[in-house]
Amino acid sequence: MEEKLVINEMEETSGLNFVEQEIKKDLEEGKNGGRLNTRFPPEPNGYLHIGHAKAIIMDFGSAEKFGGTCNLRFDDTNPQKEDTEYVESIMRDIKWLGYDWEDRLYYASDYFPQLYDFAIRLIKEGKAYVDEQTSEQIAAQKGTPTEPGKNSPFRDRPIEENLDLFQKMNNGDFEEGSMVLRAKIDMANSNMHFRDPIIYRIIKTPHWRTGDKWKVYPMYDFAHGQSDFFEGVTHSICTLEFVPHRPLYEYFVKELADESYCPRQIEFNRLNLTYTVMSKRKLLQLVKEGLVRGWDDPRMPTLCGLRRRGYTPSAIKDFVNRIGYTKYEALNHIELLEHSVREDLNKSATRVSAVVNPVKLIITNYPEDKTEMMEMDNNPENPIEGKHEMPFSRELWIERDDFMENPPKKFFRLSPDKEVRLKGAYIIKCTGLKKNDAGEIEEIYAEYDPETRSGLPGSDRKVKGTLHWVSVPTAVNVEVRDYDRLFSVENPSAEEGDFRDLLNPDSLIIRENVKLEPWGAEKAQVGDHFQFTRLGYYTVDPDSKPDHLVFNKTIGLKDTWAKEMKKI
Ligand code: ATP
Ligand code: MG
Repeated sequence: MEEKLVINEMEETSGLNFVEQEIKKDLEEGKNGGRLNTRFPPEPNGYLHIGHAKAIIMDFGSAEKFGGTCNLRFDDTNPQKEDTEYVESIMRDIKWLGYDWEDRLYYASDYFPQLYDFAIRLIKEGKAYVDEQTSEQIAAQKGTPTEPGKNSPFRDRPIEENLDLFQKMNNGDFEEGSMVLRAKIDMANSNMHFRDPIIYRIIKTPHWRTGDKWKVYPMYDFAHGQSDFFEGVTHSICTLEFVPHRPLYEYFVKELADESYCPRQIEFNRLNLTYTVMSKRKLLQLVKEGLVRGWDDPRMPTLCGLRRRGYTPSAIKDFVNRIGYTKYEALNHIELLEHSVREDLNKSATRVSAVVNPVKLIITNYPEDKTEMMEMDNNPENPIEGKHEMPFSRELWIERDDFMENPPKKFFRLSPDKEVRLKGAYIIKCTGLKKNDAGEIEEIYAEYDPETRSGLPGSDRKVKGTLHWVSVPTAVNVEVRDYDRLFSVENPSAEEGDFRDLLNPDSLIIRENVKLEPWGAEKAQVGDHFQFTRLGYYTVDPDSKPDHLVFNKTIGLKDTWAKEMKKI
């Protein structure tokens, strides 16, 4: 046994989730020679989403924790739906999460020869047969969990005939859907998966790796356990829907092997997120039909979408850690994910000033040609990050929402004759305003108090409100994309009817005229995270051009999860 695999007996078990506790026990008992080898087995038929992240964190994370290894294996057994575009995106996303399969990159298609030989062996042993019924006929004979199924009329076909037909299936002599190979197990078994499962079907679409070499392709249940076995996987961790498949998984491995080793399948609950769908089929539909702007649309639950939105790997890991791994299905609240994102970005995002809905403020007693440089914290959570300078001048942009002509009682922002502090600068008092013909406010006038400059002695006079601002002459116009929930109902998958009717029509708002302070514009690189003071977290989008920066709103500052938690 390698030394790194020895687990300290004193180590706390309570910090481990139930899967890790099982792994720990197996290692302590010396199973598999003390070896730990997990795998992450995506089918390359779509982009990874945050649900996959939960599986990845389990598979790679548990291997990491106990000094084992984790394979990446593409479960590429259906050429009709798979593509290299997906393979590449999956690898990129796993790396982004911070995991590495090193030299352990595998493909189920590498095992097609062994799986085919195994099928031949089962036929020769009378344990598999070619069924020429339609899929409807086969389904009709399946029975129910309480009623046994009916035998196929082809069940007792002579071995020689089965062999001949299966080989011809693979030569391309028959049409897709005309026949399948089934394992001959038990049509009365209380586990429906044992009722002569289909193990091979005809597919004539060329495979992206093996071309037209094969015309028959193994079904999931006939490929997965065996692939685990070929790779020496010790713990095959998957989601709960595979619980009823586990006996069949073990059945095939035992048929295949003459030794005692069998990978151990352990199942945990899927991640489901409110206001989101997680089905790859539905996500593909949103992309194909142009209902979102692509797989990496920042409203998508895909990892590339979340990345573009500004979510970080550490926030995703923190969220997965908080929801945990259990044996019960659950619906996870998106607010908790957002809470993790806020916590992470609060530590790391650079603070800048931006005005998303600008109105002009003119400080009438401030000289026209004067500019002062005000010191602004780059991140008050992390003073090491220092400060930067922001120009202050007579004309400033402030948020339209920060002014009210006729405010209610508790409005502490700007209104006629009232004082506020301009963050990092002076206290001002509103002296008037100008409206256009349509009655909209065009300019707000104020006077500043020169004795109140932030940071100077005597500047500590208190006023209730503090507003952010950007100086007009140096402001940079940028585009901001504001996002809301992709779906307008909490659990779209539970609703009747077409899920597309449940899309939130206001999930994207584009703001073209946002004013950003010059230092922020100069510094911004694609993927950078910023906090726009008082507004939220924003991330620089890849659509940005040197003269046109685009920001995605990652998340607002108001933590609805923390608020909910306080109620409890
Ligand atoms: P399908 O099989 O329907 O195409 P899938 O989402 O299961 O879709 P896979 O590529 O088979 O996609 O998934 C790879 C791994 O990710 C599997 O082990 C699966 O259990 C896991 N996984 C998929 N969705 C989730 C989820 N929502 N939560 C946790 N794990 C998931
Ligand atoms: Mg799957």
